[in-house]
Formats: sequence, structure tokens, C-alpha cells
Amino acid sequence: MKKTVKDIDVKGKKIICRCDFNVPMQDGEITDDNRITAALPTIKYMVEQGAAVILMSHMGRPKGEPNPKYTLAPVAKRLTELLGKEVIFAQSDVVVDDKVRAAAAKLKAGQVMLLENLRFRAEEEKNDPAFAKDLASLAEIYVNDAFGTAHRAHASTAGIADYLPAVSGFLIEKELKFLGDALNEPVRPFVAILGGSKVSDKIAVINSLLEKADTIIIGGGMSYTFFAARGWNVGNSLCERDKLDVAKEIEEKAKAKGVKFLTAVDIKVADKFGPDATKFMYVDADKMPDGWEGQDIGPKTREIYAEEIANAGTVFWNGPMGVFEYYEFAGGTKAVADAIVKSNAVSIIGGGDSASAAKQFRIEDEITHISTGGGASLEFLEGKALPGVEALQDK
Ligand code: AMP
Repeated sequence: MKKTVKDIDVKGKKIICRCDFNVPMQDGEITDDNRITAALPTIKYMVEQGAAVILMSHMGRPKGEPNPKYTLAPVAKRLTELLGKEVIFAQSDVVVDDKVRAAAAKLKAGQVMLLENLRFRAEEEKNDPAFAKDLASLAEIYVNDAFGTAHRAHASTAGIADYLPAVSGFLIEKELKFLGDALNEPVRPFVAILGGSKVSDKIAVINSLLEKADTIIIGGGMSYTFFAARGWNVGNSLCERDKLDVAKEIEEKAKAKGVKFLTAVDIKVADKFGPDATKFMYVDADKMPDGWEGQDIGPKTREIYAEEIANAGTVFWNGPMGVFEYYEFAGGTKAVADAIVKSNAVSIIGGGDSASAAKQFRIEDEITHISTGGGASLEFLEGKALPGVEALQDK
């Protein structure tokens, strides 16, 4: 167990807190502020305790150079609105300079300041010790509440903990609790639903879930690699030919371990990909005609998957069942989402595209826990140590 901000005395202290304010932006406007609202409980707690709070985050990929397109100024503005108190924006192309140091030194109890985008400095992603020390010099305590970047060893997520007492915020605490419980003490049967485009991205997580889950449900583009491994025709569908052996091995392992391993029995195919498709039909998964591309699970599959989900005690879901961004291919993903909502299972969505799907279908409030970190939640489920968590003090 890692110490949280509640396990140490933060009263009147100066705290530097890593958040994940990597919000989607369009024309300088924040289009979704979920990640900012998710950070509020920790920020409010620190303010209520009379701490002086310095927040930091990255946004986008400015590639180690200042770029006005990726400034955190709009985040400071939104935070000011959400907190109902001014969040001072420490504008600086180099993130920390003498002006920023002076502003941090002057920061009073209960005040909040936000640094500029950490990735304006190449040293951030290199986990450069001098940059980490520079950030640490602004405060007395380090809090990490950025689960989305916890799987990366960067100056603000790992290096900084070498110089300050380091604890987690409430968001990381919550993520570790839900993902940890699902993994270690799941209410059974434990059904893991994995979709998305590639098997190669999910091999490690499938292997790890084979040790924990009772049922593994496969959907999305990666289905076709499993089909091809069985010698089935996959037409123009996405298929990783160099992963056929891996797919075969996974299925054999599932059988040996007695894990139910479900793939689609029927699929929705189209003449072209996504928005360019003009002709559609449903075919049996083992009878895919040449020239067609599989882009969603079919109605028989939806029913089978829904039944499995209805009987689950815990459901973990990562990755869409089809090309859900387009209406024609969203049906399978929607059916899985609906089944999760209907079931009484503890439900956990592992970030990324399934979190967007949950939002698209407006079911977010019906899910037990939606992880804020796609990559981080998968690496956690793979059993990997997350550097941003490892760096924190143990209880
Ligand atoms: P991932 O990033 O691996 O979780 O994959 C998510 C992406 O997979 C989404 O953008 C989906 O559109 C895409 N996807 C899902 N099913 C298919 C499919 N059958 N063919 C191609 N892409 C797919």
C-alpha cells in the first residue's frame, strides 16, 4: 500500500502535485474537462488543509519545445472556474525559471498555482535528474495524482520523488484500489472483455488475465488474427499475420487452464473501411467472403456476449468490439456497454477507447470505475510495476 496525501501532515506545507491535465483541445478550447474534474478532490483537500499548491502536468506532444498550441493557460482558466478560486498560471517557456521560482516562494497557504506544460522541456520525458530536482526545489512535498502517466518514468512522475517525500493523491489511490481488487479478489465469475485493433498490443494483458479471469471475450480488429490462426478466411479484415502463432498459443493456454475463451461467431462486414463503406452484411465468422472487411461483431455474438456479462460478478472491459466511431459499426460495442449496465457485476473500464465509448453511449454513471489511464491500467493488469507508483512511499 502506498501512502496518500492523508497519511502525512500537509497543513501549511508547500506541495507540488503532478496531475493529468492532458485534455482534448479544439481551437484553444477544452472539449472535455473530465481529467480536470477528476483531479479536484485531491486539489481541494490540499487547499482545505492550508497547503500552498503548485500543480503540474503535460499536454499533447510538444516534443520538448515550447509551443503555444500546447500551453496550459486554458487549463488554469478552467481550474479557476471549477475551484471557484484563482489559479495563478506560471507562464514560462522553460517551465521553471527565476520568475516561477519567485512566484512559488511567495505562494501562500490555500493558494494554487499551475506550471506550464512540462513537455516544453525535453528533460521531462528523459527523466532528467537536474530537471526533477529543479521541480522539487519549488516545494516540500510531492503528490502524484496522474494515473494516466504513472506507467512512464518521467522527471515529474518518478525522478522528482528522489528529492521530496512522495505520496499519492486520491485519484491514484482509487485506481489502485479498483484495478488491484479486480485483479486480486474479483467477485466471480470474472469476465474480461478485450477489443481494439491489435493483438500485439494486448498479448501481455491477455496472458496475465488468463491467470485471473474465468472468461475472456474477444472483439474488435484483433479477432481476425485469432480467426486466421484457425485457418479461416478473413478477407480484407485487419490481421497481424506475424502473430498467428501467438494467437494459437493463447487459445491453447486458455483451454489448458479451463478459461472460457469466446470469439465472435458472426460479424458485420463491409466493402470498405469505416466511413467509406457502402455495402454491409452479416456473415458467420468462419465463412468470411473475399473482398469484405469485418468491422463489428454480429447479432448472434452480441447475444452470447450479453449473456456471459449478465452472469458475471466482475467485468473488466478494454477496447471496442468494432469500428465504433462510425454508426454502422457501433452496434456491437453498444450491445456490450448495455449488457454491462444491465448486469449487477462490479464493472471496470480500462480507459482509452472503451472510456470514450462509455461516454458516447452516456453510461458513465452506471459503471463502477472508469480508469483515467488506458496504457497505465493495461500495464497494471499485466502485472508490471508502474514507475509513478513505485516512486511513492509505502505505508
Ligand atoms: P485500440 O487502440 O487497440 O484499443 O483500438 C481501438 C480502435 O480499434 C478503434 O479506433 C476502432 O475503430 C478500431 N477497431 C475496432 N474493431 C476494428 C475492426 N474490426 N477493424 C479495424 N479497426 C477496428
